[in-house]
Amino acid sequence: MMTKKQINSLEIVFRILAGVVGCIFLVLGIGFLTLPEVFANGFFVEPARAVGVNSLRGDFGALFLGMSFFGLLGTLTRHRRLLFVPIVFLVIVVAGRITSLIVDDVPNVVADSIVAELIFITILGLSVVASSAKTETPDHGMSLGEYFNYKLVAGIAVVIILIAGVFMARKQIGMKMLAVIAAEFTQKDVIGDLPDGLHVGLAGAGAPLPDAKRAGPCTFVIAGKNFFVVDAGPGSIRQLELMKLRLGDIKAVLLTHFHSDHIAGLGELMLKRWAGEARPDPLPIIGPKGVDTVVQGFNLAYSLDAGYRVAHHGSTTTPPTGAGGVAMPFDFSAGTRDVVVIDDGGVKVTAFLVDHRPVKPAVGYRFAYKGRSVVISGDTLPCESLRRQAAGVDLLLHEAMQPAMVRTLGQLIRSSGRNNVADISRDILNYHTFTEEAARIADSAGVGHLVLNHLLPPLPVTALNSAFLGEAEKYYSGPITVGADGMLFSMPAGSSRIIKKWLL
Ligand SMILES: [Zn+2]
Ligand SMILES: [Zn+2]
Repeated sequence: MMTKKQINSLEIVFRILAGVVGCIFLVLGIGFLTLPEVFANGFFVEPARAVGVNSLRGDFGALFLGMSFFGLLGTLTRHRRLLFVPIVFLVIVVAGRITSLIVDDVPNVVADSIVAELIFITILGLSVVASSAKTETPDHGMSLGEYFNYKLVAGIAVVIILIAGVFMARKQIGMKMLAVIAAEFTQKDVIGDLPDGLHVGLAGAGAPLPDAKRAGPCTFVIAGKNFFVVDAGPGSIRQLELMKLRLGDIKAVLLTHFHSDHIAGLGELMLKRWAGEARPDPLPIIGPKGVDTVVQGFNLAYSLDAGYRVAHHGSTTTPPTGAGGVAMPFDFSAGTRDVVVIDDGGVKVTAFLVDHRPVKPAVGYRFAYKGRSVVISGDTLPCESLRRQAAGVDLLLHEAMQPAMVRTLGQLIRSSGRNNVADISRDILNYHTFTEEAARIADSAGVGHLVLNHLLPPLPVTALNSAFLGEAEKYYSGPITVGADGMLFSMPAGSSRIIKKWLL
């Protein structure tokens, strides 16, 4: 049994800790009310529309200020029952997070939040217990008169002054924040921070149809310190930059075929790589026959821009020889379906023919480095050469289409009177791989992990992922990931591990 004195001191300790929890919520509440997007960033929340900022201020502000209000009131007045309000909210928050860990594809970083919230619940709970043990009298709550005492009014006034202060200082805060955000971008060395090995990231896991979570097809591969980009779909170059990758470091771009959704970002990529590091050499663009036509076209389209840049920044900052790209076509000798296109410094890249008729040639790529390997399918129907190349690879990045969803979408488009778009969505069914077929290929090739990309239809919310997978998990027992921009799959040399991280 504890002595009265021990109980008293315990009660004080937990009351102080509960007060600290209340203050943390107060800071978060004021933060969401005054700088909603900054605080939302810490919670990995981004408003989907401008109106979303309103919800961040209102809903998140209310949640934290509400928990803070009852937490601090309970602590300061010793009316312990009030602490049940934040406890109930926190329990619901933790339940939601655990549900999300099970059903959503979320990174393990949320485990840290769960731990913090469980600590808060424990502190508040023990504060209630300690307070009960101390007073041994039931807490009947407070009368209305007790709630509205001068201390409460003074507390509310302080909070309002703080909020007003932040609003008044928002120009100064904006300048300070710029420095913080810029430092994030300029000082980060994503490639330097990775361990030696093969790393595969998604900068565009989408297809031609717009998808809020996915730009047009673009995958980057980091083999050791060598940085390669496979395809440059629309919007993907921004994703690469948002992932804080330095485009000046790109060694080469590899194109799988020349459909618009795979090349639309090429001009921007050539420009950013050139201007990023004052490169004196144009960007090598490796691709099957036809790549020279594409590169010539982009070089011509960007030639005026290149002239302006040199005139404005000078030839030291933008050396004229580095503008644009240089086509590096490869061909398949008679009867072969694969060719080694890079074999340098331990990095071996093999191009192989796939089946995307009438697009010919269309290829996929196999990257190998220090015993780790990945196959990137490009656009294709299920095909034998891909299965052969994928045999035993660590990671298979395969394009995927869910036919039932595409058909449903097509019917909806047709019923809206847009027959041409409906016809196109019907036609695409015959030159892509169905989700379940990709799973069968992963199974028969014995790959370590299947990542689906070039997703058709778009999956703007993760709630669609399960329907997209269909029966895929029946055909392949390994891990399947529905790709989204920002994912990075790290395969350290000398191990068989595949570690999934997020760069966005
Ligand atoms: Zn295509
Ligand atoms: Zn495509």
